[in-house]
Amino acid sequence: MTEPTFDDIFDELIDGNEELQGFLSILDGLLPEASLLLVSESGTLLEGARPLALAPPVRERLVHEAKSTDDFVVGKADNGSRCHAVYLPKMSAVLLITCTAAPSADWETGSAMISLLRNTLELALYRQEREVLVADHEQSVRQINILQQQHGKLIEDNYRQYRLNQEREKEYARKLESEIAQQTSELREANARLEEISRLKSDFLANMSHELRTPMNAIIGFSELLSETPLAEEQLDYTRTIAQSATSLLTLINDILDLAKIEAGKLELERMPFDLPEVIDNVAAMFKIPAREKGVAVTCKIDSRIPKRIMGDSNRLRQVLINLAGNAMKFTEQGGIDIRVDFEREAAGRIVSRFSVHDSGIGIPPDRVEAIFEKFTQADGSTTRKYGGTGLGLAICLQLVELMGGHLTVASEVGKGSTFYFVIPVEEAPAEIISLQEHKEAGLEKDLSGGRILLVEDNAVNQRLASILITRQGYEVEVASDGAEALEHLRHQTFDLVLMDVQMPIMDGMEATRRIREIEADQALRQDYVGLRALSQPLPIVGLTAHARKEDETACYEAGMNGFLTKPIIKAKLTMILSEMMPRSSCLENPDPS
Ligand code: ADP
Repeated sequence: MTEPTFDDIFDELIDGNEELQGFLSILDGLLPEASLLLVSESGTLLEGARPLALAPPVRERLVHEAKSTDDFVVGKADNGSRCHAVYLPKMSAVLLITCTAAPSADWETGSAMISLLRNTLELALYRQEREVLVADHEQSVRQINILQQQHGKLIEDNYRQYRLNQEREKEYARKLESEIAQQTSELREANARLEEISRLKSDFLANMSHELRTPMNAIIGFSELLSETPLAEEQLDYTRTIAQSATSLLTLINDILDLAKIEAGKLELERMPFDLPEVIDNVAAMFKIPAREKGVAVTCKIDSRIPKRIMGDSNRLRQVLINLAGNAMKFTEQGGIDIRVDFEREAAGRIVSRFSVHDSGIGIPPDRVEAIFEKFTQADGSTTRKYGGTGLGLAICLQLVELMGGHLTVASEVGKGSTFYFVIPVEEAPAEIISLQEHKEAGLEKDLSGGRILLVEDNAVNQRLASILITRQGYEVEVASDGAEALEHLRHQTFDLVLMDVQMPIMDGMEATRRIREIEADQALRQDYVGLRALSQPLPIVGLTAHARKEDETACYEAGMNGFLTKPIIKAKLTMILSEMMPRSSCLENPDPS
């Protein structure tokens, strides 16, 4: 059975007609002998019980009169009997009544009868109202029941829906979790693959760097040596061209490797004390000769408020300035190039400084200003033909300056010149740190008394080149082709210093250095090594490597080396490191007693 709805309940509502009918039937029960007729206020016939026949004009008059009084109005029915009309405001109707059983005298005089009628009417109205109330009450009870049922159902439905949603949510969460887990594991795998690729790329770069720099080392080194031999003017010119081309090729190789390192996030800047005026002077000095040849002036200036000795990566700063000054020189035919370091402001104990390279050259069209900082991009297509270059320099400078905490920008006007500049915070070097440069300078002042060097190098060309360079510096040299051979040499001979190549077959430089340090630390073992047993200080070992990466340098020191020299070995670098590292008194002066 279907449950009742509100509509059903409202269908049951007692309408106006039913109310009149109910009233009439109550009154009929109370006055069984009376004829009754209910007429609406407008005169329409509504209900009747044994309805009395009245001519419509009579009925209309009676209704009209009754409505204007709350008393009974008297009239005459068609059959001649008396009838009464009374207005019932609660029903919005007029009741016409005649009691045929009652003697007409009673009606006429019978105020008693009228009052009986009045009471009967009131009783009927009261009963009628009570019936309506009872009906209303029952209806309300039924409504309440239905409401309660519906409320219960609603709660049940809600609860069911809630459980359903919970289940769905759980299911969704489970699905999501498993999807996330799967994606995480896929990402982990992809990450591992990428790390592996990145490691391979790094290794590849390191190897390429080694493979490329080794022959470059020979080309640059031998052309340097060749240019020092007696040569005809033309031969000297060719030799210089070879050296210059090899140097540009090496610059390009270094640029590509630098960019790869920067892009792999592997380029770290050093933080060492260095002399800022020296770096600026060096850069300016590099361009003195080409400037003189072109008739262009090169000037430099540093604001006196900027500390002289500062912390940072002097090599990378030099690299940026050389690049900017090199471009300035390349694109300037008259006027001058000005390298400046200006004071901007002081902030948090640092001097914010503006490094700039200004030139009076060809300038850069405004629409190309952004592009020139991109890799392999030049201001216009004719640049390469006319000036050469690869479009890598500024891309590298931009990244290096960013690593230094600044931003490389240019202000330029075509035909007037350009100013490349960046603003970086500069920190004064603490007084107690003695710079490497000072060490080197101290070394340079030392009397070069000669000595014996063990060169450990597997590449025959490099062996020859380094041997010549070492001999020319006034030292004796012995060559070993790998680490194992070097140890054999130390078993039988004494040396003042070892120049140790890092990457070698059989036993590499790292391993050989570790072994030498182990032997030095072991009194008994030392006795078997003529080259180590009499030493009061550890034997100086300088690593030779084509790898210019910071981690390679760190690895050399960790293996027990005392110095580090990157290839290509050029005369100036070798002089510097040897004068710094060679002991004051040579083993040649104090031969081993045995
Ligand atoms: P490269 O000089 O090897 O082409 P760079 O990245 O150093 O590469 O420079 C990119 C381009 O920016 C240059 O080719 C040139 O068109 C423009 N450029 C750089 N510096 C200057 C300058 N000082 N004056 C005019 N143009 C310049």
